[in-house]
Amino acid sequence: MSFPAFENTFSTLPPFFFEEVAPTPLKNATLLHQTELVRDLGLEALTPAELKSWLNGESRLTGDQRISTRYAGHQFGVWAGQLGDGRAISLGEVITQKMGRQEIQAKGLGMTPFSRQGDGKAVLRSSIREYLCAEAMDALGIPTTRSLALILGEGAVEREEIEFEAATIRVFPSQIRFGHFEMAFHSGKKSELKALIEYTRSRFFDGASIEEMLHAVMDKTARMIALWQSVGFCHGVMNTDNMSILGLTLDYGPFGFMEDFNPHHICNHSDREGRYAYSEQPRVGMWNLERLFVCFSDLVTRERLIALLETYPARFQTHLIETYRKKLGLQEERPEDLELIEALLEMLAECKFDCTFFFRSLSRYHAGSIESLAGFRDHYPESLESSSLARWLTRYQERLILEGSVDSERSAQMLGVNPKFVLRNPLAQEIIANTSAGKTEALAGWYQVLRSPFQEHPEVGTWAGPLPSNLKNRILSCSS
Ligand code: AMP
Ligand code: MG
Repeated sequence: MSFPAFENTFSTLPPFFFEEVAPTPLKNATLLHQTELVRDLGLEALTPAELKSWLNGESRLTGDQRISTRYAGHQFGVWAGQLGDGRAISLGEVITQKMGRQEIQAKGLGMTPFSRQGDGKAVLRSSIREYLCAEAMDALGIPTTRSLALILGEGAVEREEIEFEAATIRVFPSQIRFGHFEMAFHSGKKSELKALIEYTRSRFFDGASIEEMLHAVMDKTARMIALWQSVGFCHGVMNTDNMSILGLTLDYGPFGFMEDFNPHHICNHSDREGRYAYSEQPRVGMWNLERLFVCFSDLVTRERLIALLETYPARFQTHLIETYRKKLGLQEERPEDLELIEALLEMLAECKFDCTFFFRSLSRYHAGSIESLAGFRDHYPESLESSSLARWLTRYQERLILEGSVDSERSAQMLGVNPKFVLRNPLAQEIIANTSAGKTEALAGWYQVLRSPFQEHPEVGTWAGPLPSNLKNRILSCSS
């Protein structure tokens, strides 16, 4: 088999950064689902059996590769030393017409030199979560790794319980993490670090200078986190080894979409102190950037690195305001917008509205009438006249009048940016339960819904929320 055209470049880096590995294919694998990326990456010429066999590590295509990469990281604020791709194997980089350079990586095909105590496996439960959420985030316009395929094997994996083995095939221009730089820097590998910087700069930042690149990384990180905040997404494990240099949402573990708005929401059961709580994410982004910038201290002066880092809060705020202006349907930029947004977030925290449902309802707000908040009265009978919601709406209405906002136009625009559907944890659990029971239509059906989250999909409307109290606000453990 000889297509598509591979052009592997990560493996041109010094050998310090990767190891050749032999995948352990899943037993009697089936291709549970695949995305449109099969076509975009030039893999559609393969038969389904050939595709599955290649993605499962059973067969080779001319020019492909099998490598795992070496990276380190700070986990929960503590230097963790070498980590690396403990269960991820890169199958090759391809050049596509539509998406430029893309790398294809399988997660769950067994042990690698970086597996440490792990078994190199992934369970169906977390593979479905990563597979669907990455595609859902992309549809929401949030930078992320993409998903190509989901495969299921017959082998058993031991976690708290015995579970099905599976693998997610991910796609990204590059998975380079903050931790790749940390690995080289903290091992004193100066020439390797320089090679990595040169590679990243020339391939992924248009040959920008080192400082320009750091500025761009900071900006992309700030933007990604501002977008997370705007949909209530909590990553759960914002360790530096999970931070992409390209500002892509990477490594979906115990993530969660917040339901009842709560700034202190913690989605990861293991995060007892709330280091990665919803409201902490922007600050953690800056802390992580500082860990990255340290790795450049032989090349850029300390003063310049600090000066650059200190621009992060303002960059983050700019992205946040821009995002919320769209969510609120505001066309003009006005200096008082930040206060309006802050008041909104305070009101949401006080009223604990379901954040997806609130913005979707607000998208239908018209004639300055509280009753126009679609479906709101049904779910929050007591809160419509609550002073804080009513007070904020009065302020919002005044702001709308200032710019002569037209209700119907604003509503159309807002319905295109405030999703009706996000991958709520109980929804993910339902899809997992169905798929585990062999009912794969749920996966295919929800894939379609999550790829078009701004459409109405009335047949599954109850999942737009708010959910009944026995279902909502579930948190997950790290086990995957
Ligand atoms: P994560 O918390 O998933 O970002 O993983 C942190 C580190 O643990 C990375 O180096 C992973 O590759 C590794 N890891 C996680 N799960 C496994 C596993 N089942 N087998 C081997 N390595 C793993
Ligand atoms: Mg990780």
